Amino acid sequence: MELRECKRCLLLSSGQEDNYKMVKKYIEKIKPDEKTEPELYEKRLEECKSCDCLISGVCIKCGCYVEFRAAFKKNKCPNVKNRRW
Ligand code: SF4
Repeated sequence: MELRECKRCLLLSSGQEDNYKMVKKYIEKIKPDEKTEPELYEKRLEECKSCDCLISGVCIKCGCYVEFRAAFKKNKCPNVKNRRW
C-alpha cells in the first residue's frame, strides 16, 4: 500500500505496514500488569480515530504512535484541554 498522509488513520490504514509491525512487537514486550486491557485499548483507539489530532497513526499533541501510547494502562490522552481518554 502506498504511504500517504491520512487524517484520523491508524498505522495500517495509512499504509505503514512496517511501522505497524514494529509497534506491535514493542506492544508485545509490555509487561502484562502495565498493559491496557483489550477492550479499553480498542475504546482508546476509537477515540483517536475520531480526533483531528491523529495524522497517519501519530498524535500531533505528543508525537507518539497512538497504538503504542494507548497500550500502556497508565498513559492518558495528551490533549490536556480536551482529554479523550
Ligand atoms: S489527542 Fe488524544 S484522542 Fe486525539 S489523537 Fe492524540 S491521543 Fe488520540
